[in-house]
Amino acid sequence: MAMAMRLKLSSAVAGCRVGELLLGGRSLELPACLLYTRGGTAPNLTHDNLELVEPPPLAAQVPLASLVEQQEVLEEYGEGFAKFIGLPDMLLVCTQYDPATPTPQGFTTSKTVSVWGSGGRVELTPSRYVELQRAVRPACYQAPAADDEGPTASSKRERRGVDRTLAFLDACLLAHHTHPELSGVGVLGTVQGGALMSERVRSARCTATRAVAGFLVSGLFQRQGGEGGPGAATRSRILRAVIAELPPDKPRMVCGVGRPDQVLRCAALGVDLFESHFPFLVTERGGALHFSYEWETGAALGDAAGEEGDDAGGSVIPEVTQEEEEDEEEEDVRIPTRFEMNLREERFRGDLSPLLPGCPCYTCAHHSRAYLHHLLATRELLAGVLLSIHNVTRYHGFFAALRGALRRGPAALARLRGAVLAAAPPPPLSSSPGAPPSLSPVPPATSHG
Ligand SMILES: [Zn+2]
Repeated sequence: MAMAMRLKLSSAVAGCRVGELLLGGRSLELPACLLYTRGGTAPNLTHDNLELVEPPPLAAQVPLASLVEQQEVLEEYGEGFAKFIGLPDMLLVCTQYDPATPTPQGFTTSKTVSVWGSGGRVELTPSRYVELQRAVRPACYQAPAADDEGPTASSKRERRGVDRTLAFLDACLLAHHTHPELSGVGVLGTVQGGALMSERVRSARCTATRAVAGFLVSGLFQRQGGEGGPGAATRSRILRAVIAELPPDKPRMVCGVGRPDQVLRCAALGVDLFESHFPFLVTERGGALHFSYEWETGAALGDAAGEEGDDAGGSVIPEVTQEEEEDEEEEDVRIPTRFEMNLREERFRGDLSPLLPGCPCYTCAHHSRAYLHHLLATRELLAGVLLSIHNVTRYHGFFAALRGALRRGPAALARLRGAVLAAAPPPPLSSSPGAPPSLSPVPPATSHG
């Protein structure tokens, strides 16, 4: 198992780790983003539609909940889940939780974790959990972890959760080595501890002493139960302290991080692997991602495209200081973010422009905001398909742009951040005709102190 995953780091740019992760005989350039799937399919996207996503995702996240009832079928099949679903080349990363679906909490016992399949709760001992992984045969998987205790949990409960997660990890690693089929498969140790710095650091430190292939920091940005995690400044401090405890030669993944500003923040703190439940949530609420990451051309896509001729060199970029980033806005995962536009809004009824002018995706090339508004209003399934193509393409394109900027160095990264952080919802069409679009950079948040 020692060689299940190998990290080849080439450099670091403003804290971001640059390099590649070798797993399953293939290479993922960092920072990497996993395709979000349920039961092996990206929601709303057939394999054919998936081919419209550019760049094509090489690796996918598979939440265990969507597999727990498939164990017998998969065991009989015997060739692993990737081949079973017709994506034999896709690298699968199996996680215990589904970041887009709140799961009931508080069902962990000293012997079992609970996974919620379509038929309800399934209790798994660590050895059963590993047997399930043997049937799935992912490239790597998250070791079983205790339920997150939430931001208000007592230190006693957090300590118990961390202790249980470490005990599950030890039992998982023992069971893992009894299955030769899992010899090339990596185990990700889960870093727990809620909003308690001391428990987070202990969890990271103890997990780092185990023979894991990498680390998954869980429950920090979005609770498994669906509520928000600790505040922005707290979680940045915690993530920095956690990562300081982890060996640099193993990959770090976060689960539940979606917003592009948070992705940039985590990457700068040394996170290598992300997942993409965020574009799925945006699609679910009838939204289209419209933020820019076009750092190379300096031309922001969207309604302001072409209006910024003088800035074509990308010279006007809001400066982002450490303090301002700590001030990153709080979020409620149910409310649209400033990185998307809500196509259900009445103002898009007659808007014949593409979702994001300049976006080369299939949806933007062929359809208008008005058409998507109509599809959403009439509850057509096609709305989800077309929005997914745009949102998934755009989100994975963001990671490709991030990797491209990191290859070029700090100045390119600063330009990318400037473009991303300038995101603001597009102005209503009806507002003051003739006036320039108000897609101006968001004024920097004032820092306290
Ligand atoms: Zn598009």
